[in-house]
Amino acid sequence: MPNNTKMEPEHIRLVKETEIFKTCKNIVIGKGNPNADILFVGEAPGRNEDEQGLPFVGAAGKNLDKMLEKVGLSLKDIYIANILKCRPPENRDPLPEEIRAHAPWLMKQIEEIKPKVICSLGNYATKFFLAECDVDKMNKQPGITQVHGKIKIIQINGRKIKLIPLFHPAAIIYNPSLLSQWETDIEIVKKEISQKTLF
Ligand code: URA
Repeated sequence: MPNNTKMEPEHIRLVKETEIFKTCKNIVIGKGNPNADILFVGEAPGRNEDEQGLPFVGAAGKNLDKMLEKVGLSLKDIYIANILKCRPPENRDPLPEEIRAHAPWLMKQIEEIKPKVICSLGNYATKFFLAECDVDKMNKQPGITQVHGKIKIIQINGRKIKLIPLFHPAAIIYNPSLLSQWETDIEIVKKEISQKTLF
């Protein structure tokens, strides 16, 4: 008997099985240039992102746009996604089982985009990558204050990628003194990208 039921890819099915999928308005996949060398990764969509179906469109996103423009970068140069594809209610922290279910979608994006550099934005995304994408190892990882701007070579799906953690743009709104460090760190990212051979 022919089977006409179109099977949903596994990474989408996993997200749809989580509780936060039931409470969110939109799945927030990403924005920017899918052929970019730089992938920015945040934690999870907030209220504005949930409403518009796009990452980093609220206050943190506006700050990010401003900071990128100042250093001559735009959405043509980067792609932006989050670990979680749905907004956790009241912006609570992601639960380990949510990260486990949503991260395969991010892994798929990394496989397709093939970034040379991943900039993890803030503590959560940074700990996720330092933990080699293993949720159970995240709480043993150093925080963003210790590792921002430091290059770490990570391996994802057999590909080497340079991880360069950056302060989260929301943290810079609350603590503007972090801005000069962010600008120093993003110059490191630009320098890495300008090299012809990264490895
Ligand atoms: N903060 C994040 O980590 N991601 C967004 O998309 C918006 C705010």
